[in-house]
Amino acid sequence: MKILSGKTALVTGSTSGIGLGIAQELAAQGAHVMLNGFGKPDEIETLRTDIEKAHGVRALYNPADMSKPDQIAAMVDECTKTLGGVDVLVNNAGIQFVSPIEDFPPEKWDAIVAINLSSAFHTIRAALPGMKAKKWGRIINIASAHGLVASPFKSAYVAAKHGLVGLTKTVALEVATDGVTCNAICPGYVNTPLVQGQIKDQAKTHNIPEDRVISEIILKAQPTRQFVEVTDLAALTTFLCTDAARNITGAALPVDGGWTVQ
Ligand code: NAD
Repeated sequence: MKILSGKTALVTGSTSGIGLGIAQELAAQGAHVMLNGFGKPDEIETLRTDIEKAHGVRALYNPADMSKPDQIAAMVDECTKTLGGVDVLVNNAGIQFVSPIEDFPPEKWDAIVAINLSSAFHTIRAALPGMKAKKWGRIINIASAHGLVASPFKSAYVAAKHGLVGLTKTVALEVATDGVTCNAICPGYVNTPLVQGQIKDQAKTHNIPEDRVISEIILKAQPTRQFVEVTDLAALTTFLCTDAARNITGAALPVDGGWTVQ
């Protein structure tokens, strides 16, 4: 029997990057999964059916925009009705925007706070009653090294990720006797489309090739000088779902090649 047989996982922002890798791994561990995120409908359908075929689980897709509380509530409701609940909730959807604060567009601030922080409040409040009723649940918030330390020009992202770490701690305390844990994973740089956008922008700004941006700017923060892999984050997510991890709650777990210990 697999670790998550009979359980259901909802992973927000799982049509790409870290969220997709986590959804695939949770399915490999036996969970039915609900995918969410943006993308081309035919590509998303391929991702969905590939998961079903590879792992013999059900995989559904819900297109909820994570900046819209009513759509989030409807997605949790659909997951509960069609897949039997939300046993594992991974709050992963996120966006980035980089700018000095004086030029930071207020609408970008609002979007980042909504998608990277408030969406987790909305999913958690909707999913918790079901977890409490079953006396089992795992909430995993994909924060960032930027939930623990700051970098310039990322005001909204750093504020939202610090907020997500705070939300994680609060929820952990509220549900500590309910069989539910709530933790944050704080990755360093992972080579996903989100970071590839930053690499392209920096290459233009500094007029240097992308490989120099990677070695001289992006990975400068990371003592290992290597990207964190999506599989590293998926493996930790799976561990947090095991019984062995039942006393890990309220933690902000860095997976950052040593970035935040400097
Ligand atoms: P990504 O761009 O590859 O994936 C982001 C996902 O979120 C996609 O599926 C996208 O469709 C979805 N999404 C974006 N806006 C959405 C919205 N309004 N509603 C629903 N879905 C939406 O990025 P990624 O690097 O895989 O990032 C995933 C998470 O990991 C983010 O929260 C990010 O902040 C965090 N993170 C990433 C890194 C990194 O280096 N890549 C480091 C630390 C933390």
